[in-house]
Amino acid sequence: MDVLKFDIEGAKKGMIQHLIKYNYIKSEKVISAMLKVDRVNFVPKEYMADAYSDYPLSIGFKQTISAPSIVGLMTEVLDIRENDKILEIGCGSGYQAAILAEIAIKGKIYTVERIPELIEITKEKLKKYNNIEILPGDGYYGYKEEAPYDKIIVTAAPVEIPGPLIEQLKTGGKMVIPVGGRYLQNLILAEKISQTKIKKTILCGCTFVPLISFSKKE
Ligand code: SAH
Repeated sequence: MDVLKFDIEGAKKGMIQHLIKYNYIKSEKVISAMLKVDRVNFVPKEYMADAYSDYPLSIGFKQTISAPSIVGLMTEVLDIRENDKILEIGCGSGYQAAILAEIAIKGKIYTVERIPELIEITKEKLKKYNNIEILPGDGYYGYKEEAPYDKIIVTAAPVEIPGPLIEQLKTGGKMVIPVGGRYLQNLILAEKISQTKIKKTILCGCTFVPLISFSKKE
């Protein structure tokens, strides 16, 4: 049993070392959050052996938990502060939300998810975090009740940045979002320079599941 435990710890550290080596993560706060949040707790039992591999895994309902490298990169570019109020669109497995919650320890993460069955499973996994609130609904429209947000992270891909999300981002705030077609998108960092000005930087190519809006065809 001890040998097994040793292997698991080794695999987990190996995953983090890989992310550092390939420059996905570099700050101490992101590294320690990713060491704290164990990906194995967020993947279905049948994929436990793959929990520390750098690729997405199915979480049912035709959805996926993102690869650790993309989770690390998105967290890194947002430069999360401990007091940040963050909006996530696409809670999914809850893995990304847990990592954000470890850094924004005095802040709050509002995470919107459209699949009620997934919320039921994920709620249980995130119950130790009193700085995470899972909200059922259509994230295309954000969550205006708590706007504006310091940071917005979108983990499902629309064809263009939803207007409501730009509106709900603080001036000086950052949003990271995949934008594009069904199988290939650009991961974009959008910084709100002023009330009317957005600076967009393409970070890399990526593949996310589509952002499905109830009332808007994507
Ligand atoms: N951040 C997640 C990744 C989940 S995959 C993780 O760490 O596991 C993307 C999620 O976005 C899926 O769960 C999907 O149901 C959800 N989603 C897609 N369109 C949505 C929408 N319009 N509103 C809210 N959630 C949406």
